[in-house]
Amino acid sequence: MRLQNKFIIFFLFLFISFIVMQFVINRIFIFPSFINLEKDEAIRNINRVSESINKEIRHLDALCHDWGAWDDSYDFMNTGSQEYINGTLTDGSFITANLNLIYYLDTAGKRYWGKMYDPESESEIKLEGLSAEDVSNTLKALKWDPNGSDSLADLYLRGIMSTAQGPIILAARPILTSENIGPARGTLIMGRFLSTSILDKLKDETKVNFNLHEYSRDLPLEIKSIMERVTPSSQHIVKEGPEKIFMYDPFLSIHGTPAFLIEVVFPREITLQGLKSIKYSLFSFMVAGFIILFSVLILIKVMVIKPLLDLSSHIEKIEEGKKYDLRIGLKRKDAIGKLAHTFDHLISKIESQTIELEKLSSIDGLTGINNRRIFDETLVHEWKRIGRQKQIFLSAIMCDVDFFKMYNDHYGHQKGDECLRRIAEAIKSVLKRPSDFLARYGGEEFVVLLPNTSPEGAQLVAEDIRKKVHGLKIRHEKSRIDEYVTLSLGVSTIIPGQDATAIDLIKAADQALYECKDKGRNRTIFKCI
Ligand code: GH3
Ligand code: MG
Ligand code: MG
Repeated sequence: MRLQNKFIIFFLFLFISFIVMQFVINRIFIFPSFINLEKDEAIRNINRVSESINKEIRHLDALCHDWGAWDDSYDFMNTGSQEYINGTLTDGSFITANLNLIYYLDTAGKRYWGKMYDPESESEIKLEGLSAEDVSNTLKALKWDPNGSDSLADLYLRGIMSTAQGPIILAARPILTSENIGPARGTLIMGRFLSTSILDKLKDETKVNFNLHEYSRDLPLEIKSIMERVTPSSQHIVKEGPEKIFMYDPFLSIHGTPAFLIEVVFPREITLQGLKSIKYSLFSFMVAGFIILFSVLILIKVMVIKPLLDLSSHIEKIEEGKKYDLRIGLKRKDAIGKLAHTFDHLISKIESQTIELEKLSSIDGLTGINNRRIFDETLVHEWKRIGRQKQIFLSAIMCDVDFFKMYNDHYGHQKGDECLRRIAEAIKSVLKRPSDFLARYGGEEFVVLLPNTSPEGAQLVAEDIRKKVHGLKIRHEKSRIDEYVTLSLGVSTIIPGQDATAIDLIKAADQALYECKDKGRNRTIFKCI
């Protein structure tokens, strides 16, 4: 697998793991905390609603106590004075105190005075199930007995009662003197409906959007199903919708049974806001992740993968062309720079070792004929061998390609190499005797050693070589003397003895070659020693 793909897979794996982790953390820890926050808020709200209804009940009870423990009321229960009726029990009192019902019961629980009134329409009304007798029976059922109590001042009965007209707040107090002293001359009962105007006031005060669902009414099925689950001790029943959270608490009646359900509807702003911020955070995390991923990949590609690929193609180039003189020369101080540097060092070692090996070898790497080193050895060897015999010639031919620098410059180094290979082949083909020895003397120069060959014979061979190479018809546009590649050949012959050395033979052949060059090239010249 490509290194780049491995990086991509690794980073994608890392990235996806982070996203999954973030998602799980959000789902398991953060999101539930939003829901808990919401539930806590809903509980606070529903408690506030219950408390506000209780406060309303306590207010009515306080009013009932004010009126009940009052000398005027105490006297009224004795005298039935019209003055009290006209002064206190007026329609105005109902309106000011927002009362729907006032009953005075005597000690036997019989109606002494009573009235039902609607402060909104400012008219007297008649309410089913709420007659003085009904209320008196309710009190009796709840064991209301003012004169059987020790602390009359603290005796009260208050709460909600369900009626056909809706829930009503009732408060009952014994009728005492202003100093709260008895015996009680009866019971004062006040009633106030939880009307829509009161509920609106409570909503306004609590700033909570709530509904009251009475048990007796026809209700939507979902409310009914909740009511079925409710017991007097039930608390905070939660129903979660996608956008709203509903919480229900039963409100107990004066009888201790649920009078109605308080329903608080709470928009799930916290969760929705939380979800939104989780989504944004995930999204920004993903975007940031992608940007980082992308940048890291580009960085890796530029800083690591590309240099490594360059390095490998460079190595291939060196390997294919055996060009050990090539260097990477990367000027980086990091690990890749160090690798390139080490590699350059290795290649320069290979280069010097190759040169050493070539030197040690007897074969010329380019042309495949003998090299200069083996020529030098052979010359010494032949010189000694022939020197041991009498009057035997040793001839040498120095061959040099004419205007070869121009050839190289014009056709390129590779063509030049190719040309040298063909010339070597051509010279080799001319030499017939096994003792004839051909070597590459250096660059575009070849040397032929002809043991046992006279000056005439050597010149003939040299001419053959010249013609053979010319006959190759290797085009040389830049040659100043011919349209094809030509050779200049310097020939010399010696009888190895004590007067001269092998070097003299080569020098003489070399001088003859210089002469050729001077005289116009593409020729053979013989030089005596
Ligand atoms: P002249 O006719 O005077 O001999 O001119 P020249 O250009 O042949 O001689 P010079 O010595 O100026 O140049 C020899 C050239 O031979 C230089 C180099 O470009 C070329 N040469 C030497 N060795 C090699 C080789 O191994 N391969 C190739 N392609 N060219 C070589
Ligand atoms: Mg030369
Ligand atoms: Mg030359």
